[in-house]
Amino acid sequence: MSDTDGKKPLGLGGTPRSGQVKQSFSHGRTKSVLVETKRKRVVVPKPGVAGSSSTSSSPSHLGDPSKRPAGISDAEMERRLAALRNAKAREAEDAAKRAEEDRIREEDRQRRRDDIEAKEREERERVEALRAKAEEEERVKAEAAAAAKRAEEAKRAPASAAPAPAAEEVNTRNQSAAPAGAKPGLSPRKDRDRDGGGDRDRNAKAKTDDARRAGKLTLNEALAGEGGRTRSLAAMKRKQEKARQKAMGFNKPEKQVRDVQLPETIVVQELANRMAERAADVVKSLMKMGMMVTMNQSIDADTAELVIEEFGHRAVRVSDADVEHVIDSVVDTSENTVSRPPIITIMGHVDHGKTSLLDAIRKTSVVSGEAGGITQHIGAYQVTTDNGAVLTFLDTPGHAAFTSMRARGAQVTDIVVLVVAADDAVMPQTIEAIKHAKAAKVPMIVAINKIDKHEADPNKVRTDLLQHEVIVEKMSGDVLDVEVSAKTGLGLDELLEVIALQAEILDLKANPNRAAQGAVIEAKLDVGRGPVATVLVQHGTLKRGDIFVVGQQWGKVRALINDKGERIDEAGPSVPVEVLGLSGTPEAGDVLNVVETEAQAREIADYREKAAKDKRAAVGAATTLEQLMAKAKADQSVSELPIVVKADVQGSAEAIVQAMEKIGNDEVRVRVLHYGVGAITESDIGLAEASGAPVIGFNVRANASARQSANQKGVEIRYYSVIYDLVDDVKAAASGLLKAEVRETFIGYAQIKEVFKVTGVGMVAGCLVTEGIARRSAGVRLLRDNVVIHEGTLKTLKRFKDEVKEVQSGQECGMAFERYEDIRPGDVIEIFEREEVQRKLA
Ligand code: GDP
Repeated sequence: MSDTDGKKPLGLGGTPRSGQVKQSFSHGRTKSVLVETKRKRVVVPKPGVAGSSSTSSSPSHLGDPSKRPAGISDAEMERRLAALRNAKAREAEDAAKRAEEDRIREEDRQRRRDDIEAKEREERERVEALRAKAEEEERVKAEAAAAAKRAEEAKRAPASAAPAPAAEEVNTRNQSAAPAGAKPGLSPRKDRDRDGGGDRDRNAKAKTDDARRAGKLTLNEALAGEGGRTRSLAAMKRKQEKARQKAMGFNKPEKQVRDVQLPETIVVQELANRMAERAADVVKSLMKMGMMVTMNQSIDADTAELVIEEFGHRAVRVSDADVEHVIDSVVDTSENTVSRPPIITIMGHVDHGKTSLLDAIRKTSVVSGEAGGITQHIGAYQVTTDNGAVLTFLDTPGHAAFTSMRARGAQVTDIVVLVVAADDAVMPQTIEAIKHAKAAKVPMIVAINKIDKHEADPNKVRTDLLQHEVIVEKMSGDVLDVEVSAKTGLGLDELLEVIALQAEILDLKANPNRAAQGAVIEAKLDVGRGPVATVLVQHGTLKRGDIFVVGQQWGKVRALINDKGERIDEAGPSVPVEVLGLSGTPEAGDVLNVVETEAQAREIADYREKAAKDKRAAVGAATTLEQLMAKAKADQSVSELPIVVKADVQGSAEAIVQAMEKIGNDEVRVRVLHYGVGAITESDIGLAEASGAPVIGFNVRANASARQSANQKGVEIRYYSVIYDLVDDVKAAASGLLKAEVRETFIGYAQIKEVFKVTGVGMVAGCLVTEGIARRSAGVRLLRDNVVIHEGTLKTLKRFKDEVKEVQSGQECGMAFERYEDIRPGDVIEIFEREEVQRKLA
């Protein structure tokens, strides 16, 4: 400290003040106080009064040179006095300004208060509002009192504090402050801080304190107002709490009954939301009904309806399917429809000549290029008869596609041509075809094929058909029949004529001038072209550029290719056409509908996808406990052979799946984990590995990465091109899962004549073999009065002291049981053998 002080004069060396500084070392503080004192003096009306009130440190004696602190010059004194005057003027100005500020502040507060009140009024309930009003009145009263007090003080303050010269300035300042008052509470306060921060007399301070207190009072009031708001917030909270409890159902009597929109399936959580109930409560309620579900699972509408009733709400069944309403559903009248070609499906037993017949009709060669001679590819073709009639033929593999399409609601066949080989007879698949046609209520035409063969016996076919209630014309029935030869072409024209005739009777019509609708008869993922679907147009005309939705897919027709491989611009009713431009591969049987906008198409496709998913989830969801247990039980007793199927076209895949489903019995079944169209991929291998399934490729191969992955994981891939080979192999594999049957054969009986004890052996029975033979290795049962009392094996079989393997009927022998001694004369020994027989699936 002293060090610093010593240095200071050095630093300021040469300045005349250095002496003063040293001298007035203790005054250094006084000096700083001086400024403070000046401020205080301002409000003192007369210098004499100030003297009495000043402290010892107060420089109220500044004007008097004798009382002046040492080292203060006249000039300095003059400067200080000037400062004092200025300060006085400023103080006066301050006081006036403060009064003004108070006024503005008060205005501001009032405005704020008004705001708060307005808000409160909105927020508060009516009861609260009433109370607030009472408070308000009280507050206004207190305020009026405070305002009156303030006004009085404000009047006093400028009158006593401001000397004449300062008053002028106050006025000008006030004028300048007035516009600033437009920004209430901000500028005036700033002014006060700036101007009033330094010099203020004690008296003035007391007064301003008063004024401030008045301000504080109002501030408190304002706070009181805010307190009111806090209460109102609490009220709000109470109100919310009440509403929550109500929603939670605690307040049963006041419970709001809701109309709950209920789609076909609904996720538990969503159901809870729609009822405004807690999801946990809904789950609980479902549990009570015996449904074990989580809140993320879907339940069906019927169950949901029960839940809704349980909670006391009303279920309103709606259909999400509303999005589908954009699909044109014109009711065709006789005016807007025109004749359309019939759609014909050829059905019959394998090898009876379906493909050959279709081939002959089209005069192309499909048969030669086909592996195993089995129709595997689904397609449709149009032919024109010599008389000009157009016929659309559908080529299906067996009957699987026909039924699976029908199952999806796509009835795309007008006439069934039942092919029966004249050299054969009505076979199982012939009967199946008859059943399908009858179920679909589709008229049938019998084509008796292979009539060129010398062993052909068409009449046998006709009589055979009688047994299945198919009475052909020749048997005075109404089913048209034609003798044909796909090989020589004999009778083909007649067949076509008969079909055309039948079509005429059916009077098939469609409206070509509307948004197209069609059925997918085949779909595949083409490497070069992407997803491709063969669509048979049923209504309207499908044009290039049309936007459509098909099953869970949608698209815009990029190209239309007809059965001759030509690109066409449009396809009318009964025209089969390949459609390019799909978002994904649809399934056979899916219905294609043209819609107006892409958004609509996408929306419908999305909806269908979601609906399908929900439906699967609902079906798969654990339903009742009983069902769960039944399922678990069933799973134990049934062995499953899982397989993954990939095929070249959708139709083949479906045909295989249907054939697979038929394999098996109560103990064994084939489970198709997944089936699809296209090459075998790594994901197929992954799936197969997870379930220990083989992957079956039908006319498709595994890609390189899938092959590699299969090798690594030890997944078997089998390739087939003939469905029957595939079915046989899978059958054999499934048979392996059958438990071997244990068959028991009785090989002989022996009568115990006497029983004796042999040391080292135990009880030995002296017997006579009465039937068959006794064999040492065989199983034995001890029967006493025809009751089995022991079952086991033999310890010894002796004939005249020699151990033998067998003893023939009519001979005597000695027998001892393994670990069994209780044998008596007169007991009968039954001798049997067990063999395990490996069974096969039929
Ligand atoms: P699908 O299994 O019903 O499609 O029968 P296919 O069309 O593959 O024919 C099976 C076999 O019968 C083939 O070898 C054909 O050549 C033969 N076939 C078909 N139609 C006739 C026919 O009218 N006459 C003779 N002789 N053979 C025929």
